[in-house]
This record gives sequence, structure tokens and C-alpha cells, in this order.
Amino acid sequence: MKITNKHNVPETLVALATRDYYSKGKSDYSVTEIISPPRIQRLRREHYNEIEQDVADMLWMLLGTALHVVAERSEVADHTNEERLSIEVGGIILSGAIDLQHDTGDGVNITDYKFTSAWALRNDKPDWEQQQNIYAWLVHKVKKEKVKGVRICAFIRDWNRRESMVRADYPQAPIQVIQIPLWDFDKTESFIKERIAMHNNAKFEMDMGEELPLCTEEDRWIRETKFAVMKTGGKRAVRVLDTEEEAEAVLKELPAKDKGFVEIRKGEAVRCTGNFCGVSQWCSQYQATLIEEQA
Ligand code: SF4
Repeated sequence: MKITNKHNVPETLVALATRDYYSKGKSDYSVTEIISPPRIQRLRREHYNEIEQDVADMLWMLLGTALHVVAERSEVADHTNEERLSIEVGGIILSGAIDLQHDTGDGVNITDYKFTSAWALRNDKPDWEQQQNIYAWLVHKVKKEKVKGVRICAFIRDWNRRESMVRADYPQAPIQVIQIPLWDFDKTESFIKERIAMHNNAKFEMDMGEELPLCTEEDRWIRETKFAVMKTGGKRAVRVLDTEEEAEAVLKELPAKDKGFVEIRKGEAVRCTGNFCGVSQWCSQYQATLIEEQA
């Protein structure tokens, strides 16, 4: 990967971005890799040397790295910081780096640090649940220890004190600890094998010159088209609805003095259009949707 420095930030930050703190060692797959879509992973491996990212766009990744480095310095009895565990599953080596393990005497509590937004925190995060449960399975299998619970320690990067005072559904502090459901280990093992098989198949298909498996709507972070009822001259929507009919009905109910209109907020595949996967320029699935849209 090529790291650029278009905004002339200090070289120390460039060095931090360039250093691979999250090396997956000698493993074939990391936990993060197997839970992500096979198409993204294959394209990333294929184009790794061509992928370009500016250091200024890596702010949250850099802060995440800094947090891990700082956390490693904090030594507290019965707490293990940043431990990488590896195991063989079906002929491949799987590894995962666990941020924090707390041996309570009655089992281990696993915690993962995440930087996130207040908006993201209100939505389901299946990848968090999958990742933490694979870590729990690794601790159980590799260290033969009982796992008591898994949780996320979320750092809310856009936390706003005022919002927290006026809205009950808003996080009440910039750091939130979220309990994650702990799966049965058999379920986790089946899930791991299923994901590894998906990634192995994708590799085989790519090696054979075949089309990679398509990313699903969930993988592409599909945002549905919405219909906002707006007052003329207003900046915020009166209401945002799923269908145009619903929006027109709300518009009709507005008092006569409030002239308004329905604004169509077109949906999109956010991960593709924003290139959050980092490989959209090489992705035939996304390029095909662009051609379709232009036709
Ligand atoms: S551009 Fe979209 S479809 Fe293609 S790999 Fe990225 S997320 Fe998947």
C-alpha cells in the first residue's frame, strides 16, 4: 500500500501509518479478514501494492493505533493487553489479536476497543458480534480458559454533550461499554468454518480467472432511498419517510401557512460509492452498477 502525505502532516504520523502494527504473523487469515466480504479481501490482496491512501484520511486508524500502544503500557493485575492467538482450522492458520482479557477468577471477560460515531452506535453491528465471538472461541480453544463475556469499549468520536442532555436515545458519555451476546462455541466454530470456506472458494475462483462472489447488500452498506417532507425555506426535514406516498400524505397535512415539498434522498451503496472498501476502482460489481446508472 502506498501512503501519501498530501497535506504535509508531520513525518512521525506518516511513519506511524506506515508501520504495520496489526501484522497477522504467519497466519493465513486474520479474524478481521474472515468476517469481511471475500470480494473485498481478494481484491485487496490482488491490488495491495497499488492501493493508495493519504495519511490525513487515516486519522481514526492512527488514533486507534495510538490507543492500542497506550493501552499496552497500562499494567493492571489479571488483565492481559493485546494478545495474538493462532490456531489451525481445516488446514489453515487463523489468528486474532485480542485487545483486553480480564481474568475475573470465574472466567475471562474479553474487551475490544472501537472508535465509532454516535450514529453507528445506534445501529446493529453484526461484525462486532462475529469478531468478539471468534475471539471468545480462540481463548476457549487455544488457552483452554472459560470465557464469561464479550464486550466493546466504544470511543464516540463525534460525541456531543448538548445532544446527550436533550435526547434519551443518545449516548450519555463519550465512552460506552456495550455487552455483546456470547454465542455457543459450536455455533461459533460452524460460523468460522463457513467463513473460511467462503474465502478459500473466492481464492480458488480468482486463481481460475472466474468472477469473484458478489458483495451482498449488507456488505455494500446499502442506504435506501428516502423521502423528506420539507418546509419551503427550511433546512431540516419535517419528517423522513420510506415511500413517496407516505411523504405526500404528510405534506398534505401541513398547515396552509407552511408550503412545502417532498425531497427525494436517493439511496446508494455507501461502501462502494465512498470507496470505504478501498478497492472500488478494481471491482467489476461496482463498475457494472456505474455503467448501468449511466445507461
Ligand atoms: S466496491 Fe462495493 S461491491 Fe465492490 S468490493 Fe467494494 S463494497 Fe464490494
